[in-house]
Amino acid sequence: MSLRTNIATLKARIPEGVVLVAVSKTKSVELIREAYEAGQRDFGENYVQELLIKQSQLPHDIRWHFIGHLQSNKVKQIVPFVHLIHGIDSVKLLKEVNKQAEKAGRMVSCLLQIHIAREESKFGFSYEECRAFLDSQEWKSMKQLNVCGFMAMASNTDNEDELRKEYAGLGEFFDHERIKHPELSILSCGMSGDYALAIESGSTMIRVGSALFGERDYQTKAGT
Ligand SMILES: *Cc1c(COP(=O)(O)O)cnc(C)c1O
Repeated sequence: MSLRTNIATLKARIPEGVVLVAVSKTKSVELIREAYEAGQRDFGENYVQELLIKQSQLPHDIRWHFIGHLQSNKVKQIVPFVHLIHGIDSVKLLKEVNKQAEKAGRMVSCLLQIHIAREESKFGFSYEECRAFLDSQEWKSMKQLNVCGFMAMASNTDNEDELRKEYAGLGEFFDHERIKHPELSILSCGMSGDYALAIESGSTMIRVGSALFGERDYQTKAGT
């Protein structure tokens, strides 16, 4: 199947209002351009170097999502153009984004990463930490930031009950927090294998790579 068909098929399966981020890590500039020509504008990348190379070579109306683990010392390289940073996993990182955004003279949108998987990822706030941070109002003083929701990675498993449980907990947390903090409007969760489950639990933004572009070959990873 062609990339254009894959995009159209996936878009037809997801409700209107759920944003599709095409995860293009390791995929070539040519392939991303093909998706762009099929109308796709939101792309997700995990590695700063690779993102910088692609951003410089592709149309400037692409909305680049940084979905990887972001190191503080690399924040300043993506802040001038990034559309949304998904993986904010510490207050320290959030402060660095605010500082660099101020220097770059633009507002930057961020999602707080929540740790919902049983163990695989070490990154992210626990529900308790995240709730305490939001209630502290500390983020309201970071004037260059739009903190607009949450991102999470479920366990790497085919067990649907486990996935459903993790996403349901996340969906409940999102619903609850956005009553207190109406600026929270994005829930980024769901990938190729489980986006339908994530949407059932309230995901508003799915990050899909291999179901669109095919399996990844890490040997060909650009720019790293
Ligand atoms: C690679 C990646 C995805 C996409 O995974 P697929 O299974 O290929 O859809 C989504 N989110 C994050 C954070 C990723 O690193």
